[in-house]
Amino acid sequence: MPRIAALSNRLLSLMLLVYLVIILLDDAHAAPTAATGTKSSSALLNPNAESTRTHISSATDSSNKAKLNLKWTSRSAWQAAPPLHTPTHTTLPNGVSHVIIHHTATPASACRSNANACAATVRAIQRNHQQQRGWDDVGYNFLIGGSDERAEIYEGRGFDVVGAHAVGYNSRSVGIALIGDWTDDLPPLSVLDKLQQLITYGTQMGHIQRDYVLLGHRQVKSTDCPGNRLYNALKEWPHYEQHAA
Ligand SMILES: [Zn+2]
Repeated sequence: MPRIAALSNRLLSLMLLVYLVIILLDDAHAAPTAATGTKSSSALLNPNAESTRTHISSATDSSNKAKLNLKWTSRSAWQAAPPLHTPTHTTLPNGVSHVIIHHTATPASACRSNANACAATVRAIQRNHQQQRGWDDVGYNFLIGGSDERAEIYEGRGFDVVGAHAVGYNSRSVGIALIGDWTDDLPPLSVLDKLQQLITYGTQMGHIQRDYVLLGHRQVKSTDCPGNRLYNALKEWPHYEQHAA
């Protein structure tokens, strides 16, 4: 019995150590950096880990002590191609002022089926943006896809990098694409839930201003994006503004 107790003590110490390493790596990530690439702490800890990075942050606002725990699939995890040029970082001190929602107008079936198939869709979108449209990288800052049961956030350009998703707004917005065509259908609730979590995380971490404006892409460009059904749903969301400024 003492042996078992000693063993479980060692196991506990090991778990604590791993936890501390995760916290430290996340702190390192949260520090301002001009690095162009992205690091995946979970990938560093376990190269075989399927793809998610955990962000654990304490809200800086003392009125909101809730800890937000957000996982997303890092670029390395979805096997992103590198950007063609050094990314341009946003310069607004308190984060971007706008959140602009898109759909990808591609089939949602792969993302409904499983996370690996969804990652392949994200790679295909990136290829299209880099090779057909001639952009440096996938245009969006983030993409989200999934089924009714689960959804994943895919890191596009990430926070604090200027995207290529809404002309005139790229340097002051975060562009988030919900994978699928949302003209006649609504995205799965799990996907909408992740979208809200990502926006909340962005505001808590200072990437997005707290009084941000939420827009659908069609409000700043003549386009069907983000699809009628999704756009109508967004009108009910907090921070939605009818008139884009
Ligand atoms: Zn769009």
